[in-house]
Amino acid sequence: MSDDCLFCKIAAKKIPSTVIYEDEHVFAFEDIAPQAPVHVLVIPKQHIASLDMLTKENSDIMGVVMERTAHIARLLNVNDKGYRTIINTNSDGGQVVYHIHVHILGGKPIGAMVSR
Ligand code: 5GP
Ligand code: ZN
Repeated sequence: MSDDCLFCKIAAKKIPSTVIYEDEHVFAFEDIAPQAPVHVLVIPKQHIASLDMLTKENSDIMGVVMERTAHIARLLNVNDKGYRTIINTNSDGGQVVYHIHVHILGGKPIGAMVSR
């Protein structure tokens, strides 16, 4: 838990959110500004600022986060038609909140990636 981190506060329920899933290690909640009919953020409860901060020592949790992301997509019933997962990293990557998170976007065709 980082005291000045928005998503740590959301995971600790010090700031309200619409909770989609929670266990010992992982927390998932609706994005406040959804970009698709389904827009959920999946985070480790452990504070890791960004993908750029991932190391051999702390990276096991991201395997758990990705497996739970697939589970949550099934809970939300977007798995059959499909969905997009995004991890924005640092400023050029469009990261705004510096607690690593996986966006799940679905419920409509998300469209082609930009800059391809
Ligand atoms: P990033 O650009 O860092 O990958 O994504 C951050 C996401 O967090 C954005 O999609 C933004 O809408 C969402 N967000 C920012 N503040 C809050 C908040 O207070 N509550 C929730 N539920 N989502 C937030
Ligand atoms: Zn945090």
